[in-house]
Formats: sequence, structure tokens, C-alpha cells
Amino acid sequence: MKDNNKIVYLDNAATTQVSDEVVALFVEIEKNNFANPNSIHALGVKNAKSVQIAKENILKSFRLNKHKVILTSSATEANNLAIKGYCLKYANRGKHIITTNVEHPSVLECFKQLKEQFDYNVTILEVDSKGCVSASQVKNEMSKDTILVSVMAVNNEIGSVNPINEIADVVHAYPKANLHVDTTQAIGKIDLDYSKIDMFVVSSHKIHGLKGSGALIYKSSLSFLPLLSGGGQEDGFRSSTVSVANASTIALAIKNALKEDRNAVNELKNKLVEGLKDIDGVELNSDENCSPYIVNFSLNKKKASVVVEDLSNKGIYVSSVSACNSKKEPYSYVVKALGKNDTLAHNTIRVSFSKNNTLEDVEIFLKELKNTLEAIR
Ligand code: PMP
Repeated sequence: MKDNNKIVYLDNAATTQVSDEVVALFVEIEKNNFANPNSIHALGVKNAKSVQIAKENILKSFRLNKHKVILTSSATEANNLAIKGYCLKYANRGKHIITTNVEHPSVLECFKQLKEQFDYNVTILEVDSKGCVSASQVKNEMSKDTILVSVMAVNNEIGSVNPINEIADVVHAYPKANLHVDTTQAIGKIDLDYSKIDMFVVSSHKIHGLKGSGALIYKSSLSFLPLLSGGGQEDGFRSSTVSVANASTIALAIKNALKEDRNAVNELKNKLVEGLKDIDGVELNSDENCSPYIVNFSLNKKKASVVVEDLSNKGIYVSSVSACNSKKEPYSYVVKALGKNDTLAHNTIRVSFSKNNTLEDVEIFLKELKNTLEAIR
């Protein structure tokens, strides 16, 4: 039986709990190293050096030597800068850009804006029944006008994993084209060769770091039209006073995420999937090739929103549609894109793990899900 005070937090794809290590580093820097890294006095110079070291550590963690880092407020901002900043900078090279139909809104909305307001020619690839696109789908759409391909590494709703290595090879056969990958849900969660990606993003709060902190990591040969103009920080690509604490804590969060042992989370996923298979009215949307950190399923007889609320009343926290989208869309466009019917697309539940979860959390979730499904109409 669940202890009434125990919280079972299974919404880690929405955000994770910040680690004690990150909090301690944040407090130390904000208290003791608060000077503006752009100030020319000794405290400013010292902090500028800390930011530089943090960026070097980020690149070292990803094993990169041809990339640079722009610190941003979020992955949303990093995606916007990578897509709009890059496309607007290189508009004279071509105006064809490619993405997929299950990207996060921070990617899809950029494509929409580029199409509607800047006249870019947009190709949107459709995922297969597992939520993936293939390298050959990308290849079929590439042309001499293509300047950008943007494909997410791990989908935030169902955890599907795209073949980024193969896609990179296809894109790089076209000298004017570059590959942007939304890696928000991938860092530390799947193996990826980051050196093959021209632009990718980090969201600190998804990896036990701070909210309001992100990064765009890009091949140093690339340039961007800045979205934020001002004092010229971040090589002129992103004006705004740089947060030393954000720089150092995102570097720490990335280092920890990339060395995370995924075996325990794999075990959680297997246990959850086995348990869900035994529950009547549940249809899995994530398969065995998906990220172990995300398990998505639909209810074909009950309303997911009612189930999520009932679980929440019991101290068990999961998502119905992704947190970023739940206010706007009453259904999951990702699950719909898998070819599922409207009932299933309206009634999805996402369970998402972090290293802090235990097998007991999964047991409690499965037991209480069964109770909830029996109790509600
Ligand atoms: N991309 C993906 C795949 C995400 O899951 C999210 C967060 N839900 C974002 C981008 C945006 O991240 P942030 O909250 O840092 O803006």
C-alpha cells in the first residue's frame, strides 16, 4: 500500500528535480561570484574565465573539438536560434528546409513562421507507425536548395529514437545543408555521436539542472542572425548578460547526465511495460526501441485526463499530453501521427523516468492505475 505522504513523480520528461550538487554550485556562484562577466574589473574577468571553462567542459563532455556553445534561457530559445537564426543568416544559399511532423512546438512553430512570414519552402516528413523517420525519407527530399534539416533525436511524448547518424550522412552529402537536432530528451538517455551534428540543444532542467538555462551547441564555422540584439554577448549571437551560475551548472548537469547508468531505468521501463500489457484497455504507443526514459500508452475505454487527475490526487504524477502542449492541444498530434485513432490520440498517458525513480514507484503506479481504471466510469 502506498504511504500517503510518498510522492511518485513520473513526469521527468516535463522537468526533473534539480540535483543537490547543482543547487550548491548555484548558491555558491550567485553569492560569491556575482560580478558581470562582461565587466573589465578583476571580478568580471574572473567570471568570464569561469564561463569560458564551463563551455570548454561542456564541449569536453560531448567529446567535441569543432563546436562552440551559446548559452540560452532554454531549449526553446536554442531551437529558435538554431532554426530561425541560421535560416535567416543563410537565406541567400537556398530556402528549402526539412523537418518532421512530430517535432516539439519550439521547432515546428519556427518552421511555420519561416514558411508563412519569410517564404521558405518547408517539407514536413511523416513518421512511421513507430514515430521515426528514415535516412532515405530525408534523402528523397534533399535538393541543391536545401539548407537545413531538423530531426529530433528522441521524441518527448513517446520516446521514439531517430537514426541521427545515418541522417547526418545524408545531409552532409549536400555542402550547403546543415543538420539541427533537438536533443532535449536525448542527452544521457541514448548514445549519440554529437560530433556528426551541426547544431543541437540542451535544456538544463531536463537533466537535473536549473530552469531558465539552456544551450545551443554548434559547429564553429556556422553563423546566426541574432534573435536578441543588444550588448553583443555570446559572440554577438545572443545579447544579454551571461549567467555564470547557469554556465557552470549546465556544464555540471551535462557531465552528470552523460555518465548516468541507464541500466536501472531500463529495468523500470521493462517492469512498467510488462505490467501495462496485463491491464485491459491499455494500448502501448512506445516500443522496445524507444528511449527507456519515456513510456507512452493510450486508454481506449477511459478518459486520460480523468485518470491523470485521479492519480494526481493519490500523489502520483504523470502527463496526459506533453506539459508544453497540454493547454493548447486537446489531443496528441504525435500519437495521431503514428496512425492511431482519435480516441487513442485524445487519451494518452506519458510516464517518464529519471535516475531518482525506483521499482517501487513503478509498482505503486501500476497498482494505483488499475484501481483508478476500476473506480472511474
Ligand atoms: N524540445 C523538446 C523535445 C522538449 O521536450 C522540450 C521541453 N518539453 C523542449 C524542446 C523545450 O525545452 P525548454 O523547456 O528548455 O524550453
